[in-house]
Amino acid sequence: MTDARSYLFYQSRNPRPFLDRGEGIYLIDEAGKRYIDGSSGAMVSNIGHSNPRVLDKIKTQMDKATFGYRLHFRTHPSEDLAAKTVAMTPEGLDRVFFVSGGSEAVESAVKLARQYALTQGQGTRYKVISRFPSYHGSTFGALELTGYDPLRKPFVPMLAAMPKIAAPTTYLDRDNLTEEARGLKYAEMLRDKILEEGPDTVLAFLMEPIGGASTGALVAPDSYYARVREICDEFGVLLIYDEVMTGAGRTGKFLAAEHWDITPDIVAMSKGFGAGYAPLGAIVARAALVEPVLDAGGFLHGFTYAGNPLACSAGLAVLEELEEQGLIAHAAAMGDVLMRELRALMDNYPFIGDVRGKGLLTAFEFVANRETMEPLPKELDAHARLVELAYERGLIIYSRRTRGGTSGDHFLIAPPLIISEAQIGEMMSILRDALDAFAA
Ligand code: PMP
Repeated sequence: MTDARSYLFYQSRNPRPFLDRGEGIYLIDEAGKRYIDGSSGAMVSNIGHSNPRVLDKIKTQMDKATFGYRLHFRTHPSEDLAAKTVAMTPEGLDRVFFVSGGSEAVESAVKLARQYALTQGQGTRYKVISRFPSYHGSTFGALELTGYDPLRKPFVPMLAAMPKIAAPTTYLDRDNLTEEARGLKYAEMLRDKILEEGPDTVLAFLMEPIGGASTGALVAPDSYYARVREICDEFGVLLIYDEVMTGAGRTGKFLAAEHWDITPDIVAMSKGFGAGYAPLGAIVARAALVEPVLDAGGFLHGFTYAGNPLACSAGLAVLEELEEQGLIAHAAAMGDVLMRELRALMDNYPFIGDVRGKGLLTAFEFVANRETMEPLPKELDAHARLVELAYERGLIIYSRRTRGGTSGDHFLIAPPLIISEAQIGEMMSILRDALDAFAA
């Protein structure tokens, strides 16, 4: 049970305790210690652990058929999940393709965009503009579009060299602009980049509506979103939202895009979509993009496990649970409570320089100086230290030192959407305890 050996790459050097079971917002190790899953794993377990209704539905499907290749049979779980996904996403997004994870979803979105362009006689369009900092996945295609150099560096000669623009890190800007003007300033970088590259070479713009692992729940000014959509329309560039982390209710809407009334052309989802009950992801796209591709002979893309009935039965049960338990509105309400609590931390801990987020995707960032927003020295290893102090005390949080690979320790606090106000209190008291130990 406590065997220290591990053949796993990611456990052999710093082994964690063995997980025994999950219960709602808690994970329990084999020694019986309870942890609050304050980051839903990696922003995955949106409806909490061991949801009995979801498990029941998966078991029912398991007894019928676990696999039927998607080209050999239609299945009710995949058809029903597709219908429910379309019903829950903004109008206009009405075709679905299933995958098994976030990187696969991002790549599927890009490959759909390219195949659509070919049907329109736009074979010269192949560049996908993305942003730095950003995270879009670890497969080669998704990694190329990821704006985080340390992850890309070893593979640069093998990557496709796509154009990138700055993501709006406006909390670091020390100009005299209003937030609205700052949002527009960053959006214009997209227009400039499209013109620089040549509009007839630009296929799509890919963005996380709220930065996740890369920037720590970083929301752009409202003005940014609408202007980006306008610029894409001006040049016939497809707008792809990577909602792998922000989708499935995490931010208090089913898609984060809904906060700004934006309908992207293609949306990539995963993480909370399967919510830890199945490796599952999806792209949702406008029919007007998909139909010409099908007319031209079919979507040249696919993964063996795509749309398998077992994973889809899990996804369907997850979406039903989100809807029937009113978890998306609950996430918005609990997000307000959590944000208030996190902001209050700034009164006691001068090294917290920023608190941000939307719904239950929230974060705080450490700084050496709140005026200049200079980060803590890298040698302090602050992000790893606070994570350990919290872990010892029974709270799991997710941290990165990135700000685009240059600086900044940030911490994502993103508990399951089922969390109650009392449980937020319990989580905050462990977090304060860990911060006290960090400050000592
Ligand atoms: N896009 C975003 C925004 C993500 O946060 C992630 C995972 N952190 C991915 C894509 C990649 O997903 P996966 O690890 O499931 O391939």
